[in-house]
Amino acid sequence: MRWLLWIMTALAAAGSCAAADIAITFDDLPATTMRDPERLTRDLLAHLTRRKLPAVGFVNGDKLLDDGQVVPARVALLDRWMEAGFELGNHTFSHRSLHRIPPEEYEADIVAGERHLVDVVRRHRGRLRYFRHPFLHTGRSAEVRDRVTTFLKKRGYTIAPVTIDNSEWIFARAYEVTTDAETRKKLIEAYLDYMEAKVEYHRDEAVRLFGREIRHVLLVHANALNAEAFGALADRLTKRGHRFITLAKALKDPAYRSRDEFFGGGGISWLDRWALTRGVPQDFFANEPRTPQWVQDVAGIEE
Ligand SMILES: [Zn+2]
Repeated sequence: MRWLLWIMTALAAAGSCAAADIAITFDDLPATTMRDPERLTRDLLAHLTRRKLPAVGFVNGDKLLDDGQVVPARVALLDRWMEAGFELGNHTFSHRSLHRIPPEEYEADIVAGERHLVDVVRRHRGRLRYFRHPFLHTGRSAEVRDRVTTFLKKRGYTIAPVTIDNSEWIFARAYEVTTDAETRKKLIEAYLDYMEAKVEYHRDEAVRLFGREIRHVLLVHANALNAEAFGALADRLTKRGHRFITLAKALKDPAYRSRDEFFGGGGISWLDRWALTRGVPQDFFANEPRTPQWVQDVAGIEE
């Protein structure tokens, strides 16, 4: 029987080596740019709840206001997330970059971001415990980064890093400006292929860096593209063997305690930061999937 056990162990190892555990995070809540934000939110959440996928949504407080006044319908969009059992985090009030404003202003933007969000979270007996840096900009110096990190910790936040960064927002822009049904269909197909390749690239990058699979954090946005296609994306990833886990579980991976001495201007993934901190050669980042040129053209954005 020992050979049978050996084969089963080998099969389990082979199966797991090509798949990852992934936490899903949505930034820039609530989605307000589209004509029907209620429907967008409902559709997006349905993809998640139908598949029982955990997720955390990161909120920009200023999206709850119009002309300085709270818009109850927008706050209600956050209620939908909480009612469906999801957790909300702080993404600052006005989505400004720590690379553009002094740290004290940035800290004020964090506090301002709590103003209406705390009420929503409390109403649903939730906890406000995660913070995501806009643009993934974490500071151009150790002094600034450490200062803001300490500030966040004191306010009870855990920073939510990202390992699977991507240009999903370019696809989303293209999707929003397209009215032609055929092009939209093509965009969704391209999006699914691109994201599948991107997840695979970062999974492989982590294995090259750590010598093992790590638990990942995926960054996407609350937008019309995902309201349409996120379910199909999740199904594709599940088919490849990937599993979806909570952010709390992902962050328990010791990989997230890796040294990060990246202070460049780019809002890059934490995997890239850890790799650069370790001084990997430039070709370590070769073969990263790119957004197809035609998608960039439709979006009017250069990657
Ligand atoms: Zn954002």
